[in-house]
Amino acid sequence: MFTIDAHLDLSMNALEWNRDLTLTVEQINQREREMGMNDKPDRGNATVSLPALREAEIGLVVATQIARYVAPGNPLPGWHSPEQAWAQTQGQLAWYRAMEDKGEMVQINNLASLEEHVTRWQDGTESGKKPVGYILSLEGADSIVNLSYLEKSYQAGLRALGPAHYGPGRYAPGTDASGPLGPKGRDLLREMERLSIILDATHLCDESFWEALDHFNGPVWASHNNCRALVNHNRQFSDEQIKALIDRGAVIGGALDAWMMVPGWTKGVSLPREMNCDLEKVVDHLDHICQLAGNADHIGIGTDLDGAYGREQSPYDLETIADISRIPGMLQKRGYSSEDIQQVMHGNWLRFLRDAWG
Ligand SMILES: [Zn+2]
Repeated sequence: MFTIDAHLDLSMNALEWNRDLTLTVEQINQREREMGMNDKPDRGNATVSLPALREAEIGLVVATQIARYVAPGNPLPGWHSPEQAWAQTQGQLAWYRAMEDKGEMVQINNLASLEEHVTRWQDGTESGKKPVGYILSLEGADSIVNLSYLEKSYQAGLRALGPAHYGPGRYAPGTDASGPLGPKGRDLLREMERLSIILDATHLCDESFWEALDHFNGPVWASHNNCRALVNHNRQFSDEQIKALIDRGAVIGGALDAWMMVPGWTKGVSLPREMNCDLEKVVDHLDHICQLAGNADHIGIGTDLDGAYGREQSPYDLETIADISRIPGMLQKRGYSSEDIQQVMHGNWLRFLRDAWG
């Protein structure tokens, strides 16, 4: 089934993990194992590559640019100036462009390119390798040196932005941080609204989340976010936040980062099988949102697979991202209609994009 994944850090994997995503997942992992690479905990544990996306008919993804700025004393990994962070995101953009030149990917940035692309993937008459469509999104706004850089990014295709990531941000405090957006964050939202850039509410800390919803009048989604009712941590949304997003017409993407799927996970210690973290757990989160909404119109897939973690922190029954093609069967077993299942796998994101870009 044609599937949309609303959150993948593809270019981060290409540039920071040195992964050639045109290879199979097995080839990527084999090379990392043969080289004995151990610079990152997820070496040899990749689950995402372009052939794996095609295998599962994941024909459209929201793909990120991501680079954090860290002030002195901030222990998180990141760049020491916003200009360096900007340059990193431009390298990431250059990789997406090179994938376009190679026929591996294609940028989707307006209604016409969206409709043409979806038809290409759905009508089934084209044989051979189809390019994976990508909608460019920025995860964390630290690299926007000043607001004039947002327009540059828009010209390069940026269509969604999450102001925050982990920790204190230049425009908004994110996961594990706290506090308001402040004037800088609100100016960013105003400029996003002018440019019709989608607000990604994922990673905003609670106070900034509510402030952002109050101040931003454009379209809002949450590309990769699970439920606090099931895994009690500020990274996940409370039921109150989910209901507010539903009222705004948002779609929320279920994420496959194991610590966000099952309670009690200790990073670097817990293992998926001993924590009983299988793919069904994301369906629990998706189903919880549907119970709050009273329908299946506000959920989608936003895996975040290979988002600085690999199989050691993913569902144990997932070998590659292609395994998300088992989610429709899981939804069916829980009584979801075939119409609802199509909405979850692509229809809700498409409706959202058509409204935003129409
Ligand atoms: Zn994230």
